[in-house]
Amino acid sequence: MKKYYLIFAMAILALTACSDEKKEAAPQQLFTPEIEDFDYIVDNFADLQILRYRVVGIENLTLQQQELLYYLSQAALCGRDIIYDQNGRYNLAIRTLLEAVYTMEGIDTTSADYKAMEVYLKRVWVSNGIHHHYSGVKFEPGFQQAWFEEQLDKLSFDALKTVLVEGQSKDELFAEILPVIFDPAVMPLHKNQTEGQDALLTSSSNYYGEGVTQAEAESFYKAMRNSEDSTPVSYGLNSRLVKRDGNLVEDVYKVGGLYDAAMSKIVYWLEKALAVCETEAQRAALAKMIDFYKTGDLKTFDEYAILWIKDTESLIDYVCGYTETYGDPLGIKAAWEAVINFKNLEATERTLKISNNAQWFEDNSPVDSQFKKEECKGVTAKVITAAMMGGDNYPTSALGINLPNADWIRAAYGSKSVTIDNVAEAYAQSVKNSGFNDEFVLGDTEKELLVKYKDITDNLHTDLHECLGHGSGKLAPGVSPEALGKYHAVIEEARADLFGLYYVADPKLVELGLLPDTNAYKAQFYAYIMNGLMTQTTRIKLGDNIEQTHMRNRQLIAKWVLEHSGEDKTVELVVRDGKHYVVVNDYAKLRTLFGDLLREIQRIKSTGDQKAARDLVENYSIKIDQDLHKEILERYEKLNMAPYKGFVNPVYTATFDDNGKFTGLSISYDENYVQQNLRYSREYSFLSKTVK
Ligand code: ZN
Repeated sequence: MKKYYLIFAMAILALTACSDEKKEAAPQQLFTPEIEDFDYIVDNFADLQILRYRVVGIENLTLQQQELLYYLSQAALCGRDIIYDQNGRYNLAIRTLLEAVYTMEGIDTTSADYKAMEVYLKRVWVSNGIHHHYSGVKFEPGFQQAWFEEQLDKLSFDALKTVLVEGQSKDELFAEILPVIFDPAVMPLHKNQTEGQDALLTSSSNYYGEGVTQAEAESFYKAMRNSEDSTPVSYGLNSRLVKRDGNLVEDVYKVGGLYDAAMSKIVYWLEKALAVCETEAQRAALAKMIDFYKTGDLKTFDEYAILWIKDTESLIDYVCGYTETYGDPLGIKAAWEAVINFKNLEATERTLKISNNAQWFEDNSPVDSQFKKEECKGVTAKVITAAMMGGDNYPTSALGINLPNADWIRAAYGSKSVTIDNVAEAYAQSVKNSGFNDEFVLGDTEKELLVKYKDITDNLHTDLHECLGHGSGKLAPGVSPEALGKYHAVIEEARADLFGLYYVADPKLVELGLLPDTNAYKAQFYAYIMNGLMTQTTRIKLGDNIEQTHMRNRQLIAKWVLEHSGEDKTVELVVRDGKHYVVVNDYAKLRTLFGDLLREIQRIKSTGDQKAARDLVENYSIKIDQDLHKEILERYEKLNMAPYKGFVNPVYTATFDDNGKFTGLSISYDENYVQQNLRYSREYSFLSKTVK
């Protein structure tokens, strides 16, 4: 398709009729079950476990805040189709066909093919597309093509018509779409990062039109950038770059442009939210964001980002737009995502202690003083409770977010850094009693350390990574923030992780009351190295390389310190009874090694040393030792754990009186994963499914 302007008359009608609002007044039902009474696990399939998260504290919000939260939550769901389409041009059509077969009346739901298709569909929902959300590798369908074709043939014309392009026959449609599902050679990778191959022609993400080459896209955006401009917009962030009549043009995501129907609906809810904002600062930022949705103007986006940073007093906050660029092989174009949230006041005290000392951390870091910031602009750190997730952040969620991404805005205005506490809680609760530590940790001392300090140091490491790590350091004069090219993302994440690792061991944290004693950090060091060298590979199929940015940076760090451990073996891998284990022989020395690598990585970023970045990334972060990997997978399989987690959102129902005045919100945690996704497809499907 490559281009699709929206289409659905229905979607436009829906702008005036809001089916989600119930007109009768109902008693408010907002309460949060206790941890012991909460059923965290919703579903298990393939390599996934789907969890629920608790929305603690929503009952303490004012009626107006609840109303605001509700409207923003609706906006969060309206962008669902956008991320499917950004992830691949066939994703919406495939999802629609799968759901039609899955819910077809009279189909034999006990057959092996049906059951395998159910797993495949559930995985598509997790990934917002047909490629694994983490590895980027296309799913293998476990059901037969002949069986699937037979079912498609039984579908009524109505079920197919949203997928058919005008004038297209059913057979033509099937001939186009079936190989995308069943032929392993078609669109094998979401994002191909292999050296020496054209990253765009060999990737199936949909940020560039068919036939646009990497060199063309790179020179298109290079020509836009002016190295003299100290406040550049994020060129290309919100568009698809396509070739039309031989020329490269951008199809901009905006109301009236690409993705119009979904974006109009998002704006509809944001405008409702605008009327019930808590503070002037919040209103100013939200108004600017709406303006950006309507115009697609990237200067407006930067103005919005600055206003959003300044809104620190409001309890309710949101990410709801084109945000992270991990999905684009060139790191230019942003995926649509949403996290609607409110501040966890108690836990925010923790991050305030860190951010209030930002300058101390910067001044005392091991990086070369010429690359340190003289003045740390306020990093606003807070702990939040997620109330609704959408787009690229659903159903797999980040644990922390630090925005905005534009370097010059961060340097001039700071950034907002958040840790999502209720998601962390769900993760932690779901792995209790799994037997994981008994299998992979050598020695009772380390096991006790992990039980005692793993959760608290995990939270702190995330805080340090987000609040300080990403915001620390500065570029040498004249160095472009894009200087590291495709190595930027891994290097940047390694930098933030190393900053967190270096400081989680600092006595300053005990002094600040953030850690109980000077032993606690060892739990984080051990867990990090064990994960980076061994256990994170449970998420990867034997024979595959590491593709995901954060996994690459973790292995980079862990392998680098292993290799630089020297004769006294600061860190080593030992074998006991045929199994590998991590042993840390000298925690203090390990901290020094983290400091050394942080210093080098900051130098690489500050000077734009692409060759050094490439050497680190290529030598340490991608390849996995095959024998070790096989062993880890076998040990892990015996534990019956899922390496990836996803979430279902709670269901909110708003009530209004006869005059349309909001009277309350109720929350339910009952919806299961299948029910939720089928409902989202019925109620929040705004984009055309046709592939042009
Ligand atoms: Zn990060």
